[in-house]
Amino acid sequence: MPIGPFEKLRREVIDAGLCTRCGSCVGVCTAEVIEFADPLGRCLPILKDNEPCAKCAAMCVNGCSGQDVHFPTLAQFTHGSPSTDTRLGAVKSLYVGYAGDEEIRKAGASGGVLSAAAIYMLESGIVDGAIGLSPNASEPWKFEPRIARHRDEVLGCAQSKYSISPVNTILRQLEQEPKGFRAAMAAIPCQVHSIRKLQADGFPAACKITHILGSYCGNILHFDAVRGFLAKHRVKDYRQIARLEYRAGEWPGKMRVTLVDGRLLEMPKFYANYLIPFYMMRRCLLCTDLANEFADISGGDAWAPIYEERGKGFSLIMGRTERGRQVLDEMIREGRLTVEPIELEAAVGMHSHMLDFKKRGAFLRMDSLRLRHKPVPSYGYHPLTPAPFGRLAFEMLLRTIYAVCSWSLSQWAVARLPTGITGRIFEQARRRWKGLTASTKRKGFGTIQFEVEPPRLLQHERISPIEDHSRGVEKNEISERHVKA
Ligand SMILES: Cc1cc2nc3c(=O)[nH]c(=O)nc-3n(C[C@H](O)[C@H](O)[C@H](O)COP(=O)(O)OP(=O)(O)OC[C@H]3O[C@@H](n4cnc5c(N)ncnc54)[C@H](O)[C@@H]3O)c2cc1C
Repeated sequence: MPIGPFEKLRREVIDAGLCTRCGSCVGVCTAEVIEFADPLGRCLPILKDNEPCAKCAAMCVNGCSGQDVHFPTLAQFTHGSPSTDTRLGAVKSLYVGYAGDEEIRKAGASGGVLSAAAIYMLESGIVDGAIGLSPNASEPWKFEPRIARHRDEVLGCAQSKYSISPVNTILRQLEQEPKGFRAAMAAIPCQVHSIRKLQADGFPAACKITHILGSYCGNILHFDAVRGFLAKHRVKDYRQIARLEYRAGEWPGKMRVTLVDGRLLEMPKFYANYLIPFYMMRRCLLCTDLANEFADISGGDAWAPIYEERGKGFSLIMGRTERGRQVLDEMIREGRLTVEPIELEAAVGMHSHMLDFKKRGAFLRMDSLRLRHKPVPSYGYHPLTPAPFGRLAFEMLLRTIYAVCSWSLSQWAVARLPTGITGRIFEQARRRWKGLTASTKRKGFGTIQFEVEPPRLLQHERISPIEDHSRGVEKNEISERHVKA
């Protein structure tokens, strides 16, 4: 018997542990029968009240970023050519810099560049709205996507939110916007993968997104990370949260919870990173995109001592498409961005640990799952160069650490360690670990070769690669296709 689209999604992605929680399946469901169950728990899509899945164009399957994310096809669609660098993706312009406007820089997670770009595009009429994540007014521990129309609203969305927030649910709201509406969208890589797949398929709401502002992303955390952080401060009820910030104050910032009684619970960002091995969404271990390769503009932290010493906030900035480069050029000309160009290898060096984690580690983890006949995502490329023995051994150790940290007992124990001690132990361990593993992780990484499959034919040949349309407006006109059943 044929199975409905959601049933296919459930079997091949959700139950297979491959859901990225990007939110697209909810955002594209024309029958509006898909929703997230337990958003502060495992946060997985389900069918509302077990309603039957309507006959439809199966966009929830076609646009899913969990299982089939063919990088060569996405590169062809986004850039009109294969990626220029297999580690970072296509790069047309590359800088370290920050927002020229001090208020925006301060509001941002690193240099405020993504918010500055959204504000610039809104103010100069390039887009009509800018999608970002802002706290829910009555439940401020939850973050929800919104379409900002003014500077203040964009600033209300600034900052990185490290807990699972299915941003692509916004597609439902975007669909209500008039034809010709143009939106910028801030998003992490898995969300972007889905948006590009949907655009390649001509899904109207996704085609309204003309500029993607992609942040680098190492991983995302389950909301339990916040519960664990509160437990450490002996706060049992997350509903005591009046404000939740992951990057408050001077770059690199602090994880900060403001409670309804006015108390502040804080931990420097690097200390709060102790939460990662305990609460990371496990699907992130299989993601191979750190640098948001299919965005128009990517931004990450400029992790290098010369910038870190200066504080205040520096971003690594990449113009990836012609459209992205053009926006950056205009912003630089108008003084909205202060930048200095850097070399590609310097950009790789700033994130060499996480790049190794994504571009080598994720493939090793997938190999291991395949051996055990477990499902893995398919990316259309893989490393040709075998990892050296030291890297394999390191991977085994890492996997053991993650496994132990995912035990409830470990999470219970770490939540009871005094705050100062946990942060310091973690930071010491992190520094030691980085020092000890640096040569293992770098060995062979610079020369790593990938086998890349040819791009697949885009489903609708009339949709040319978006790179052909300098502002993306034209694309809206030519590529929207009605997919409602
Ligand atoms: C989950 C996550 C993991 C990250 N991991 C890394 C990393 O490993 N290395 C690194 O260098 N950088 C990482 N970053 C990126 C970094 O934290 C900054 O976002 C980036 O440097 C851009 O800074 P900015 O000041 O220009 O952004 P801002 O001006 O603060 O703008 C950020 C924009 O992103 C949106 N946003 C925030 N959180 C999310 C989210 N969860 N999903 C979708 N949109 C969101 C905001 O609403 C805002 O519009 C991560 C970001 C996130 C969200």
